[in-house]
Amino acid sequence: MRTDDARHNGQRGYRLSNALFAEIDRVVDAGMWAVAGLRNGTKEMKAIGAGNPFPSKDLENPALTAAAIKEEALRFGFDGCGISRAEALDEDAARLQKWLDRGYHASMAYMGRHAHKRVDPTRLFEGARSVISVLLNYYPSGTQTDPRAPVLAKYAYGKDYHTVVREKLNRLLEWILSGSAPVHGRAFVDTAPLLEKAWAARAGLGWIGKNTCLISPGKGSFCFIGTLLVDIPLQYDNPVDDLCGDCTFCIDACPAKALVAPRTLDAGRCISYWTIENKAAIGGAFGDRLANRVFGCDICQDVCPWNRHAVPHREKDFDAPPGLLEMTREDWFNLNEEQYGRLFQHSAVKRVGFEGLKRNLDRIVD
Ligand code: SF4
Ligand code: SF4
Repeated sequence: MRTDDARHNGQRGYRLSNALFAEIDRVVDAGMWAVAGLRNGTKEMKAIGAGNPFPSKDLENPALTAAAIKEEALRFGFDGCGISRAEALDEDAARLQKWLDRGYHASMAYMGRHAHKRVDPTRLFEGARSVISVLLNYYPSGTQTDPRAPVLAKYAYGKDYHTVVREKLNRLLEWILSGSAPVHGRAFVDTAPLLEKAWAARAGLGWIGKNTCLISPGKGSFCFIGTLLVDIPLQYDNPVDDLCGDCTFCIDACPAKALVAPRTLDAGRCISYWTIENKAAIGGAFGDRLANRVFGCDICQDVCPWNRHAVPHREKDFDAPPGLLEMTREDWFNLNEEQYGRLFQHSAVKRVGFEGLKRNLDRIVD
């Protein structure tokens, strides 16, 4: 990466050209939703729906419009909503198969099951015509106060997102079904074989960054994704351009070298996998490379310059319980089961249980 005409990313000390930083500021400040021409150093910007994140036109179904659904999604507290046509994702299918063939899913055998459903929503919900993707920001207003404390992924600070997003999504679905139009639909939150990031990208909510996260201009990547499949046609959104440009912060910053290529994660190396998905002991060569992470890992998101503009969420359920963010390193290592129950009663951390958390803590080294 060039080091002349460059400045540091405030969070980590990586360097990026001033030009890309300036473009990021400009996109966000202008409220532009899609920009073309940043790749390969081109500076020309093309605003699509500037100032309006939901530039859909009107409506194929006069009783239920894309614009009305988006408006309602925002009213229910979502931070973004986009719509795409339900059809087979052939390119993503090929990419997924290649990823599976290389064994990058590690022990997550379920990733390989129902792969045909993952890439074709009509196999998941018969008659699906439209995919409605929603975003819910979870970027916290504060982080852990002890810089030596084992680090918890931000998404696990508050109540389990499956519950929070599903509740909102079900309310949105109920609203859609309650209209005069005969509609059927199903809601999904990271629980069914569905490529939610790919659908959100097709719906223009962002692009898949080199860290494999959905990056939404103006919001960054600290957002949960929910998906509704409905059996009516709607006005569809256009994808936005990939604005990673020449940046490689995420790849360079990953302590486990798990981003083996842009947009390619070897889960078997990823700290998130080892501290959450992996059910066995954390051993072998990986054991001492947790980078002080106790549950999940945000490093490749924390360094992303698009997250400099992330704003704190508005969802009370995502607030950390009292005392969690103030825990010292010593508090973490002395955590007992009663404290664990109180702090993580409703959290996604429950997924690994007290023993799993202790297992992770045991592998953290100075
Ligand atoms: S989550 Fe952590 S370990 Fe996994 S790719 Fe990102 S930085 Fe690397
Ligand atoms: S940090 Fe990664 S995801 Fe973010 S802009 Fe840079 S390359 Fe893209």
